Amino acid sequence: MTEAAQANIGVIGMAVMGSNLARNLASREGNTVAIFNRSPERTRGVVAAHPEAGFVASETIDEFVASLQKPRTAIIMVQAGAGTDAVIDQLTERFEPGDIIVDGGNALFTDTIRREKAVSPTGIHFVGAGISGGEEGALKGPSIMPGGTAESYKTLGPILSSIAAVSEGEPCVTHIGTDGAGHFVKMIHNGIEYADMQLIAEAYDLLRYNAGLTPAEIADVFTEWNKGQLESYLIEITAEVLRQVDATTGKPLVDVILDQAGSKGTGVWTVQNALALGVPVSGIAEAVFARSLSSHPEQREAAAGLPGPANTVAVADRDAFVEDVRQALYASKIVAYSQGFDAIRAGAAEYNWNIDLGAVSRIWRGGCIIRAQFLNRIADAYAAEPNLAALLTAPYFAEAFTEGQEAWRRVVISATQSGLPAPAFSSSLAYYDGLRAKRLPAAVVQGQRDFFGAHTYKRVDAEGTFHTLWSGDRTEISATDSH
Ligand code: NAP
Repeated sequence: MTEAAQANIGVIGMAVMGSNLARNLASREGNTVAIFNRSPERTRGVVAAHPEAGFVASETIDEFVASLQKPRTAIIMVQAGAGTDAVIDQLTERFEPGDIIVDGGNALFTDTIRREKAVSPTGIHFVGAGISGGEEGALKGPSIMPGGTAESYKTLGPILSSIAAVSEGEPCVTHIGTDGAGHFVKMIHNGIEYADMQLIAEAYDLLRYNAGLTPAEIADVFTEWNKGQLESYLIEITAEVLRQVDATTGKPLVDVILDQAGSKGTGVWTVQNALALGVPVSGIAEAVFARSLSSHPEQREAAAGLPGPANTVAVADRDAFVEDVRQALYASKIVAYSQGFDAIRAGAAEYNWNIDLGAVSRIWRGGCIIRAQFLNRIADAYAAEPNLAALLTAPYFAEAFTEGQEAWRRVVISATQSGLPAPAFSSSLAYYDGLRAKRLPAAVVQGQRDFFGAHTYKRVDAEGTFHTLWSGDRTEISATDSH
């Protein structure tokens, strides 16, 4: 039985994320943490395993609410979807104006907008907060992306800052924007993560099958890369995965893992929303599609006999090829991040959020899955030019293309010639070439659209809108008035 109002913060949901976040909170000076879980056995288990945390544990939601000091703050870490709605309902029935409900789960941002709308008339603050870093991040310091009102952040900011990862002296948390902004940015974070992972996987494939390196040798290459421009958590852990030997077979573990990649849906959300916003996140989309392609064994088996190139290309100079792949990976990575930040900017415009893109890049430097030195370069780019048209045009990144674009092309050619799929590498290059093109074949598409649907077109040399009378005498008429 809990004594009254001892805790300054509460966590609901004692599965891996919630219990680790609660332990993280409890380890910071000044915090007394209330905990609650739908099934009390789980709460008891957490209390027994972590007596040092001094948790104020409750077995009913009423006890939990009573154990919180006012204004009450509770972080929900339960299964996204119906579970989150159920807990929000329980809390709104019991909380008072000024109290704060934080959803730290992986909610779809439109659900967060809906929930905020439903809760705010009660005077209770509802904050959707994206939390990245997995189990370890929750325990040791995640990257946190809270939305909600600026007022709620006054209370919440110091608490979240105390448990967030720290990068270069700054906590990896910032108030992203109102209502669903935090979950939107977390969604894009995950989309970028998909692209980053796929690009690293393609680099592995090229080094393994075109350059003939073993997984252990590739692990060494990645470890080396991790000391330079590509330094990142994902490169570091990929080296660990590639170095791992399977205890049963003695083979590299990567060779016994079934080559079908799963997903939990945040990559799909990113692409769906980018499509709706008209933002070409092609690198992220290819990464999502690559996972879906891998997970259709029946199609892959049926297509396995289709012809490939007669001769695969032998790499003449291994070291030069490794360096080419490194540069191609870096260039493609810049494209993926540029596309992701474009999506954040478009989302902010659509949903009326005032999002500081530089601050977003800074809070991703630590705690989250895409953490990397590289994010400092993005922060610098937005500090120098907050209204950058496209991140990849920032001087530092433009220089990387000057240095690496020939290598990028050689790598895509090598993959194509040897029949090795490198969808993220090649689509990133196509995006780069598309964006820098002086003329695009979009003019042909507009001509086609005008031909079959009288959709009209604009001219490069005159104001207004035009239509050619394709089925008549093919003269051009002004369509400005009629459209
Ligand atoms: P989870 O497996 O997603 O969810 C299990 C928890 O949800 C349990 O505490 C369960 O309570 C509770 N729950 C489910 N339905 C409920 C309901 N109707 N009412 C009340 N409680 C309910 O847990 P998790 O992996 O720790 O993740 C928690 C949240 O963090 C999720 O939204 C997840 O997407 C997000 N997240 C996870 C990760 C990760 O790496 N795992 C990373 C970032 C974010 P019972 O014990 O009673 O069943």
